[in-house]
Amino acid sequence: MFTCITESPEQTSDLAVAVGKRIREGTVLCLEGDLGAGKTLFVQAMAATLGVESEVTSPTFNLMNIYEGICPILHFDLYRLETEEQLEDIGFFEYTENPEGIVVIEWADKFPDALPEEYVTVRLERTENPDERCILFSCIGERNEEFLKELEESCQS
Ligand code: ADP
Ligand code: MG
Repeated sequence: MFTCITESPEQTSDLAVAVGKRIREGTVLCLEGDLGAGKTLFVQAMAATLGVESEVTSPTFNLMNIYEGICPILHFDLYRLETEEQLEDIGFFEYTENPEGIVVIEWADKFPDALPEEYVTVRLERTENPDERCILFSCIGERNEEFLKELEESCQS
């Protein structure tokens, strides 16, 4: 696990670009944090780095968007989802259990039991400064550990 402090939306975007450059196909990336924490902003910068040219918006109402970049990018937002059954209805498990491309899940912490065996978590927390975020990276899985180690090294240099 490691933590980064960003002092502006641009710095959070830069961090998401660093993630986009290193993230591996097949990764599930869970984004946690309150409304307005910066989850969608993070996905936007990451998706652009992965070659997505269309506009990335929060799939709050439709629950999932698929973007085509260098690989498919599946963007879930579970904010409005009420039950785990609804996850089945939207095909969540087919998409996350053996992901083709990259899966990004906003509000993943609402359904911790529904998450696959291995994933990366990015938690965005506000501080007393309105433009500052404390961003915590953690993961489950050996392959994800390697990815986070690379990311941490890139953030320090
Ligand atoms: P979420 O998807 O978590 O609800 P959004 O990404 O839609 O949040 O919105 C984040 C808002 O916070 C944006 O308006 C952004 O400009 C603002 N913001 C201010 N400082 C930061 C920062 N350091 N990192 C990310 N967003 C920030
Ligand atoms: Mg959002």
